[in-house]
Amino acid sequence: MNAPIPTLDTSAAGAFASLAPPVWRASTVVFNSLDDFVNRRTRLPDGFSYGTTGTPTQRALETRIAELDGAAHCVVFPSGQAAICGALLALLKKGDHLLMTDAAYGLAKAFAVERLQALGVEVEFYPPRIGADIERLIRPCTRLIWLESPGTVTMEVEDVPAITAAARARGVLTAIDNTWASPLGFAALAHGVDLCIHACTKYMGGHSDVLMGSIATNDEKLYRSVRGLQSLMGLAVSPEDCFLVARGLDTMQVRMERQAASAQLIAASLAAHPLVRRMLFPALPGAPDHGLWARDFRQAGCVMSLQLVEAPYDAYRAMFRELEHFSIGASWGGVRSIAAFYPAEELVRRRFCDVHGPVIRLSIGLQDPQALLDELLGALGAFQKSSTL
Ligand SMILES: *Cc1c(COP(=O)(O)O)cnc(C)c1O
Repeated sequence: MNAPIPTLDTSAAGAFASLAPPVWRASTVVFNSLDDFVNRRTRLPDGFSYGTTGTPTQRALETRIAELDGAAHCVVFPSGQAAICGALLALLKKGDHLLMTDAAYGLAKAFAVERLQALGVEVEFYPPRIGADIERLIRPCTRLIWLESPGTVTMEVEDVPAITAAARARGVLTAIDNTWASPLGFAALAHGVDLCIHACTKYMGGHSDVLMGSIATNDEKLYRSVRGLQSLMGLAVSPEDCFLVARGLDTMQVRMERQAASAQLIAASLAAHPLVRRMLFPALPGAPDHGLWARDFRQAGCVMSLQLVEAPYDAYRAMFRELEHFSIGASWGGVRSIAAFYPAEELVRRRFCDVHGPVIRLSIGLQDPQALLDELLGALGAFQKSSTL
C-alpha cells in the first residue's frame, strides 16, 4: 500500500501495442491539481469526473455506437431496459403526456404504467400502424412519442417518417427502441427520430453473455439530460461489459448478414407450411407491413414470429420438446438460436392488436440454416401428431 502508484509510461512508443482496446477500471478518478478537482463536474457530459460516468473504455464504445447510429452522442446503460427507463425519466416530468406504441417492449409499457403514471405523467398507448394520424393524439402537453418498429412479438412496422414529421411540426420529441433492426437495419435518426435506443444485449453483444443498453442522439441538450440522469441514478456500466460489446461490434455485420439470410430462408419455408397460419416477419414478401419495411429498412433482423393452426397447449409442448439447436428463452440476437412462446392471453392485454392466439417467436442464430429448418419441420410434425391425438 505504501508503494508509489504505478503510471503507464507511454513515451516508449512501440514498447507495447495491441489490437484489443484497453479495459480501464475506476471507481475514483484522480486529478492533477486542487483546481481540477474542484471543477470536476464541468468535465461532463463527455469527460471523466467519477467512476459512475465511465472511463475511456465506456467512452470508446459510446463513440462507436454513436457512429453506427449516425449520432453525435451516445450514453450506455447497464441493460436495454435501463436505457429505456433512462430515456423516459430524462425527458418526462409531471404534467407531461406520453404517447407510446401499444406494441412496445413489455417492460417499457409496464414502467410507463406502473411508475411514470405515479410520477404524474399521463400515458396513452397508440396503435402501431397509426402513421400520420398520430397528429390527432398530440396535445399541447404531449412531450414524447415512443416508437418501436417492428413491434415486440407482433412485428407491426411503424411509419416512422410520418410520425416524426407530425411530431416535429408540433414540437414533440420522438424516441425509438430500434433493437430489432440494429443500426445496420434501420437508420432511426436519419428518419427524424430524436433518440435512438438499443438493447446492446441483442445483436451488438451477440453472444448471449452480456446485458447493456444505449441511447444515441444528435441533440446536445438531450444528450446532457441523458448523461445527467445516468450519473444521478448511478447507472454505472462495467468496462468489462463494454469490452465484450465492443468485441461483438467487430463481427456484428457479418453475423447479422448471415443470420438475416438464414432467417429469410427459414421464414419463406415456414410460410409455405400447411400448419403455419401466419408469418409475422416484415422482411418476408407478402407478410404484414412488408411494403413499409422495404421502403425504410436496409437489412432484415433475425427474429420472426409465427402462428400455427389452432391446437391445444400440449401440441406446443410436444413441438418444443423436439428442439435442440433452438434453446427455449426470451433474449435473442445471439449466435445460438432461441425459441419463445407467448400465450394468447398475453396479447389480449394489448389494446390495439390484430394478432389473436398464441405466438411462437424464433431468433435465428449462426447454426447451419438447413439443420435449423429440418429441426423446425420435425417439431411441426410433433405438433401435428400431438394435436390430432
Ligand atoms: C431485449 C429487449 C429489450 C431489453 O433489453 P435488456 O438488455 O434485456 O434489458 C428492450 N427492447 C427490446 C425490443 C428488446 O428485445
